[in-house]
Amino acid sequence: MKKLVGLAGMLVLVCLFQGCGRNTGYVPENAKYDKSFTAMDTYMTFAAYGKNAESGLEDARRRVQEIENICSVTRAGSEIYGVNHRTENTVSLGKESAKLLREAMTISERSGGAFDVTMYPVLQLWGFTNGEYQVPGEEALKEALGKTGYQKINVDADGVELETGMEIDFGGIAKGYAGDEAAVALKNAGVKSAILSLGGNIQTIGTKPDGSDWNVAIKDPEHIDQYMGVLKVSNQAVVTSGGYERYFEKDGVTYHHIIDPDTLWPAAYYNGVTVLCPDSGMADCLTTALFCMPLEEGQKLVESLDGVEAMWCTPDKQATTSSGWDSHLKK
Ligand code: ADP
Ligand code: MG
Repeated sequence: MKKLVGLAGMLVLVCLFQGCGRNTGYVPENAKYDKSFTAMDTYMTFAAYGKNAESGLEDARRRVQEIENICSVTRAGSEIYGVNHRTENTVSLGKESAKLLREAMTISERSGGAFDVTMYPVLQLWGFTNGEYQVPGEEALKEALGKTGYQKINVDADGVELETGMEIDFGGIAKGYAGDEAAVALKNAGVKSAILSLGGNIQTIGTKPDGSDWNVAIKDPEHIDQYMGVLKVSNQAVVTSGGYERYFEKDGVTYHHIIDPDTLWPAAYYNGVTVLCPDSGMADCLTTALFCMPLEEGQKLVESLDGVEAMWCTPDKQATTSSGWDSHLKK
């Protein structure tokens, strides 16, 4: 009998022990979960901590996929593909792409047209859309010029109106917006601490589990295995646009994928621009815009925006920073 009770007691103990994990669902706050995947033509690595992190990461990945399905320029069936392959000049847009387009237009206006979602015909000419790289001739560029200009776009509740031949792409904003939305998905799942890298766009949610800031290293655009410094951030995004992300070389000259709407050539002011900002969609637009703006204009724009800091790296290896940048640097 004694033996039986002993055995029953052990069983209860084992059940209790197992129940501990299953019923209370206790997960330490610093338990780390990772998820890596390819989306939006780039590699993404997400890390989240604590309770619900695992399911939150899957929600975040799904959300990124949804945004890609809407914004892809190459996937037949996406809304943007539909816009670019329209049969009439007016196309209806879903809520999300209409919102993104309006945000992109706001940055276009504030940057004096440095950010322009209508650069797609020009990117095609340079071969950045299919890898058949070439330096286009002046005639071809002149013709492409007629197909560009964000001012010619009309967006309203019914959709978007574009002139014949015009095409748009969200390559300069979609990854940033996806970072914001992935953060929302994680927060909705109850996650308080996470850090996401969307092809180099960094999005932080809360702080590290121990309450300290995340450390985000800024790559040196000249030597991408080296760093320009480390930022301390929480609940913010750090986004970099660099000429080293996508480029080709011809006759010893490097040509990259960020097109200056004034010249229709790769913008030549900087080799890297980084923006720190609470909103990652805004940070993404801004890095692309600033990359195509002379320094003084860019500085004016950044200083006029609340909570935004930036660093510009010029080819002569000089780094210029906005007024509040240093206060975020890890000393
Ligand atoms: P990455 O995508 O490498 O992080 P960016 O955020 O700067 O770099 O976005 C570059 C992409 O934005 C290009 O691949 C193209 O799709 C688009 N693009 C290029 N030039 C411009 C521009 N002047 N304005 C808006 N979008 C642009
Ligand atoms: Mg960008």
